[in-house]
Amino acid sequence: MANTIRGLGLQEQVSYLVENASSWIMNQRTIHRALAKPLSETTLAALQGFFSQDTLDRVKVRRVPLIENPPFYSAFEDEGENVPLSFDVWAAITFGDVILVSESQAPGPLSHSILFHELIHVVQYKILGVNEFARRYVNSFLQSGLNYMTIPLESVAFDLQGRFEKCEGKKFSAEDEVQSRLFVPGLPYAGRND
Ligand SMILES: [Zn+2]
Repeated sequence: MANTIRGLGLQEQVSYLVENASSWIMNQRTIHRALAKPLSETTLAALQGFFSQDTLDRVKVRRVPLIENPPFYSAFEDEGENVPLSFDVWAAITFGDVILVSESQAPGPLSHSILFHELIHVVQYKILGVNEFARRYVNSFLQSGLNYMTIPLESVAFDLQGRFEKCEGKKFSAEDEVQSRLFVPGLPYAGRND
């Protein structure tokens, strides 16, 4: 790259990261999708009713030893900068309709709660597309001073995951909730539907 990360303004940093993150997400989806498996019968039974059949049918899951950081992070390391967000401590990550679950961070049987959280992201990707998902994620992450818990795409996922854990089998449409919370009036993105 021509510029140093340090020398970029906030909007340029956003553009740089959105561009790189989008390509990374699409590449990772392709690589892992070929080796990923559909949801098991048990998992399907646990998650049916919360998500549409279409979502449950197309999602695939792959166990990996560790969630690896993207190659474009080397640009930060070369400059002696901290990486924006370190993925190696994450239990899971979602690339479009492919969910990776980390063996080291989430060992043992697949957690329905973790999968539920990641499926929220699958729905967000489905509605927004990879580029817009990446744009919103990076934008709110940088605007918040690198606090990923306050990213709206995450706070909705954590909120609905908490509701799932407490629901005692009483189903609700998580997919409808995601849809209604993506375009809340008053948020900077309200009305954006492209
Ligand atoms: Zn998440």
